[in-house]
Amino acid sequence: MVPQLSDGLIDEAVILLRNLLRIDTTNPGGPETPAAIAVQQFLTSHGVRSDVLEPVEGRASVTARVAGTDISAPTLLLLSHLDVVPTGDPRGWNHEPLSADLSDGFIHGRGAIDDKGRTAMNAASIVSLHQDPAPGDVLFVAAADEEAGGTLGVRWLMDHHPETLDADFALGEGGGYRTSMGNRNLYTYAIAEKGAFRLRLTFRSGATGGHASIPGAENPAEVSARIAVDLATLRWPWIRSDATSAMLKALSNKGPVLLRAGQRALGLQFLGPALLGRGVGVSEAQRRALHAMFHTTVALTSLRSGHAEGGIPQEAEALFSVRYPPSASRNQVLVAINNRLRRARVDPEISVEREVRPRAAPPTSPLATAIMKTMDELDPTADLIPVLLPASTDLRDLDSRTVAYGFTPMRGITAEEVANTTHGVNERIAEGDIRFGVEATVRTAHHLGK
Ligand SMILES: [Zn+2]
Repeated sequence: MVPQLSDGLIDEAVILLRNLLRIDTTNPGGPETPAAIAVQQFLTSHGVRSDVLEPVEGRASVTARVAGTDISAPTLLLLSHLDVVPTGDPRGWNHEPLSADLSDGFIHGRGAIDDKGRTAMNAASIVSLHQDPAPGDVLFVAAADEEAGGTLGVRWLMDHHPETLDADFALGEGGGYRTSMGNRNLYTYAIAEKGAFRLRLTFRSGATGGHASIPGAENPAEVSARIAVDLATLRWPWIRSDATSAMLKALSNKGPVLLRAGQRALGLQFLGPALLGRGVGVSEAQRRALHAMFHTTVALTSLRSGHAEGGIPQEAEALFSVRYPPSASRNQVLVAINNRLRRARVDPEISVEREVRPRAAPPTSPLATAIMKTMDELDPTADLIPVLLPASTDLRDLDSRTVAYGFTPMRGITAEEVANTTHGVNERIAEGDIRFGVEATVRTAHHLGK
């Protein structure tokens, strides 16, 4: 039996989320410890013991564990993070990014989805699982420092408190979003993530720069701009990974319309990206997402140069975010980039930074079965589809034996809105999705191990 959630607990989770949104945990900058303490107070007020663990001052994570009823049942970790990315230009926001405004049924603010919404859902879920235990133990971790690679968060916990993350299964961010294809509603769960690194190219001129009124000598700003376009438009081969194969198979299994969408997507691997999105059911946003799942991508994220309005710069720097599918080779990606630079006859200083490895979990597992049962109960009209997350989350740093899925179920906004607003402007979450997310998480925990 899955217990009923009390309205009081959900109301308190909404209050917790709004408190968290008002605490500035911008990474780098705002410390996470005040947010960790707010979560701890919420847990303590419901009788759940927790630890605030702080590797350096201000950078705390909060962890908790509640016991299950059956010691042979698998352990489930609920993972989220407390830090957020910068809000960017506040003029782009309809609501102040730290306001936690509640209007029209939405809670607004940086972190509403990524990942304070999930933190509040997980906190209420672990309280519910403390009151009505699931078969297995359930672990709760709201970590610091996810957005900067997790050195002071999950990676530090793995090194110093591995018991806090030691689970058979884990749920984290990166999936659970609603989309539709061919008139069918789908929810995703992310079974794999791309590998990523930051590529820094520094172009220096042998010339001395000089006055902008007499151009013609080597100009690193112009070279970096040309190379930026070169790399961003590099054509990468289709790469099918276990995760994308599982996605296409699941789409093909879900009835005639999705069968066509799935077959069309399958055909793309041979016919090329121009066909993707033609015909029924695949939107432009989905086409871009599918493209990212099947390819290595290189995105220019920063281009800097110049010291004076009338002067030719002597140096320029370009930063790229490079992401490759789990089955691609990081070295081959670097070789391709190097070849492109050689063909362009440039020789910048190259630095590969902030590397994260890809991760891949099997599409079928007791956790996938538990999620399917849950979604059948909560939204029987929808299908559940495994996907490859083109981004990267903390789940990659868990022990490889932990089967981890990105699954934060939401129906108030679409997967496309999630993609546009997390790390962008106007991030928001539907208030009703707090209940939906807690319901889904608690039910999944109860189904697991039954
Ligand atoms: Zn996140």
